[in-house]
Amino acid sequence: MSGNDKIFKEAFELIRSKKRILLTTHERPDADGVGCELALKHMFDRLGMEAHIVNDSEFPDLYRFLPGADMVNIYPEGFAGDFDVAISIDAGSRKRLGVVSENLSEDVPLINMDHHISNELFGDVNIVDVDISSSGELVYHFMRANGIEVDLNIATCLYASIVTDTGRFSHENTSPRVHRVTAELLEIGVQPDEMTRRIYGSKRRDVMALQTLSQETLKFSEDGAIAWMHVTNAMHEQTGTSPLDTQDFVDVPKGIRDVKVAVLLREGDTPEFTRVSMRSNNAVDVNLIAGEFGGGGHRRASGCTIEKPMGEAEAALLAVVRKALDAAS
Ligand code: 5GP
Ligand code: MN
Repeated sequence: MSGNDKIFKEAFELIRSKKRILLTTHERPDADGVGCELALKHMFDRLGMEAHIVNDSEFPDLYRFLPGADMVNIYPEGFAGDFDVAISIDAGSRKRLGVVSENLSEDVPLINMDHHISNELFGDVNIVDVDISSSGELVYHFMRANGIEVDLNIATCLYASIVTDTGRFSHENTSPRVHRVTAELLEIGVQPDEMTRRIYGSKRRDVMALQTLSQETLKFSEDGAIAWMHVTNAMHEQTGTSPLDTQDFVDVPKGIRDVKVAVLLREGDTPEFTRVSMRSNNAVDVNLIAGEFGGGGHRRASGCTIEKPMGEAEAALLAVVRKALDAAS
């Protein structure tokens, strides 16, 4: 029995009283987001309930192998007709749902399932646990609390969520409990070697070429505590890649000795804005730094959009990172 069991059951009761269910996640989704919505879709299908996945953005190519990936719609596809209830998964704010939120009536009851410390509790029902490793782990406990059988399709999707959000069980959100959950997923039949090959051993060559270009831009602060690199739209054109292909690039600066804050800057779809990904060791809270620019995430992994061209965004961000590091030392 976990502390969330009551809310898990109440939410499930509410969902069961509805007919058409919308499942969605944040823009530019990661494996946690798509893994959870697919796991829930498999659950609803088995229960004979009508659920539709509709997302703001393109499905990440790396996770095409997940069972049911072809059932994910990109707005406006799959959005016709009224929904009776909506479930947002892995998104810290309603705004992060992008066009799906803009087009979803405020009258549709919204269930917010998430684990971000920056979560704005924007749902009519909020199932938000900031101490849990991943939305995938949250969905697992939700299913268990409601007596749902976790089959191999569900287990595979939840494993993808958990292994990526814990950084292959290396981040500080890696708990004994998430290892126990993962053990159960393996007992159900998930093959960790196969999953690792799919997720961590399948980088496309064009993405590798993009990463090489990006690594050439790597810079360090004088004390080596901040490392950052960037990706431009010209680099995407040159290599035939898309912004979704950069999801793990920030691990490059993060993996360097003495680096306390790692940053990836990505030119926006238009050069007037810049997307930022941040990672930190235990020195600083990058959720707070992202928050200064209207973004959020977790203490050790966060993101934001800065409404400035890349050079200016870089200067503005680095100043705030510097201040946070100085305050922490
Ligand atoms: P990533 O750097 O992998 O894109 O994101 C790191 C973490 O920060 C993820 O948990 C992600 O959901 C969150 N995040 C990224 N960008 C934003 C943003 O613009 N706003 C908020 N609230 N969270 C973000
Ligand atoms: Mn997550």
